[in-house]
Amino acid sequence: TEEKSLHFIEQIIEENLSNGFPQNKLRFRFPPEPNGYLHIGHAKSICLNFGLGLKYNAPVNLRFDDTNPAKEEQEYVDAIKEDLQWLGFQWDKELYASDYFQQLYDWAILLINKGKAYVDSQSSEAMAEQKGTPSQAGVDSPYRNRSIEENLALFERMKNGDFEEGTHILRAKIDMTSSNMLMRDPIMYRVLHKEHHRTGNDWCIYPMYDYTHGESDYLEQVSHSICTLEFVMHRELYDWFLDQIYDENQVRPHQYEFARLNLNYTVMSKRKLLQLVQENFVNGWDDPRMPTISGLRRRGYTAASIRKFCENIGVAKRENSIDYSLLEFCLRDDLNKTAPRVMAVLDPVKVVITNYPEGKEELLDAENNQEDESAGFRKLPFSKEFYIEREDFLEVAPSKFFRLSIGNEVRLKNAYIIKGESVVKDAEGTITEIHVTYDEDSRSGSGSEASKRKVAGTLHWVSIPHAVAVEVRLYDRLFTDEAPDSHKEKSFLDFINPNSLSIIKGFVEPSLATAVSGDKFQFQRLGYFNVDKDSTPSKLVFNKTVGLKDAWEE
Ligand code: ATP
Ligand code: MG
Ligand code: MG
Repeated sequence: TEEKSLHFIEQIIEENLSNGFPQNKLRFRFPPEPNGYLHIGHAKSICLNFGLGLKYNAPVNLRFDDTNPAKEEQEYVDAIKEDLQWLGFQWDKELYASDYFQQLYDWAILLINKGKAYVDSQSSEAMAEQKGTPSQAGVDSPYRNRSIEENLALFERMKNGDFEEGTHILRAKIDMTSSNMLMRDPIMYRVLHKEHHRTGNDWCIYPMYDYTHGESDYLEQVSHSICTLEFVMHRELYDWFLDQIYDENQVRPHQYEFARLNLNYTVMSKRKLLQLVQENFVNGWDDPRMPTISGLRRRGYTAASIRKFCENIGVAKRENSIDYSLLEFCLRDDLNKTAPRVMAVLDPVKVVITNYPEGKEELLDAENNQEDESAGFRKLPFSKEFYIEREDFLEVAPSKFFRLSIGNEVRLKNAYIIKGESVVKDAEGTITEIHVTYDEDSRSGSGSEASKRKVAGTLHWVSIPHAVAVEVRLYDRLFTDEAPDSHKEKSFLDFINPNSLSIIKGFVEPSLATAVSGDKFQFQRLGYFNVDKDSTPSKLVFNKTVGLKDAWEE
């Protein structure tokens, strides 16, 4: 097997191990904020963290970073767990930053007692003004030198609910002249009179991300805390907070940053995805056009294809944008091996074989997947009347038209060679029926000379008396711009594709009558489709998952 080169985080871990870090102390975490559904960007972080867990036989915690009650909900917690499991990963412990609220509060008091935190009672505007700029030192808050007793008393009153939001905050006392703006006395706690999805009304002060994250990693004894590049500047603060509580008999967590996934023709911030949902640009978080894990799943993506995609894009330190087609490539590659081939006609025109006996029916043998011998064969009913795609027929064919036309022959997949004879049209001149003749010795697989005859094209078809009418949802990209959220003057919503969904009626072969939600197929020559969750036995609904790269050849 091919040796894959190690990515930079694996290299760091190898180095740690060779310097004596015990392998059994490796621990990772995936820390989603439950303020939305997971998207394909999260999948990159998931595959990275859980991949390291598998590689080093180390536990990976699922930690909900739930410190902002204004945006977090149980619905999101449940969806995140479902998506993670569907992706094929199992966490060690399910943990919540909110479980640490008491400990974080106690540590905040410790910091106050050490003279390293203080209550500031200014307006946020005043504090912003004092912050300075990267090239200009900040100005100390007039409250920076409050006594420890006063700070303790005020902080307790903040906790007890004596204050309105925005009147007092707790700040770390670090350095108002630091060249790292995040070190200029960052906020640790703010008053929020909001009910939390887990702690209810127990708290009305909530810790900030920067204070919470490192301390949570420490509590969980996470060794390698991996996040995206926006957090590079936060690392100094992460380390500062750890310095205040670190005990050298414990594992000291370290933060490492990698490049987030950016995909073209989509947006990936949860705030923007939520906006698409709330403003009804899509039908929910799991709309098949969404880059969410649940949307991709509903669209027909397999977990294996998403894992493969994450493996292919790799882990690097430099930002870039990945082509959506790479994701589709990974999907097609997987479905090609696993999806049964069936026949469906999405823009039907009726064909009648004039020399085929009236009322006759045959059951033909059809191979389910030529890429997978174990998939076997099925019986496919054939009769005098069937549908083909309207675009597969032209009365007068130009050269190189390898489909049906008057006077020309094509093969019907798994069936006979037919020849175009005449057409029937309505008053507007639209073709309503195509009349053909068939070569009755040419049945596929019969072994006859005629069955081996080469004709220019092969068409898919569905026998009319046996056809099952279905709804088919076709998707186009949700945005018309490659980077919809990169425009200064315009909102990403200005680039919504108004035609990203079209719903049509089609016909499928009868073997699909019993298909259920999630079943995946290749509709021959058309693409990969799956059964949508809206489907019922009396009204089947299919999503187009992805087109075929190459038109199929027999
Ligand atoms: P968003 O901006 O979509 O809200 P977030 O980073 O705030 O993203 P979290 O729920 O905090 O979302 O993310 C959980 C983990 O997933 C974090 O470690 C984060 O770095 C990672 N992550 C989020 N988006 C991406 C992405 N596009 N590529 C790689 N990792 C990501
Ligand atoms: Mg986050
Ligand atoms: Mg976020």
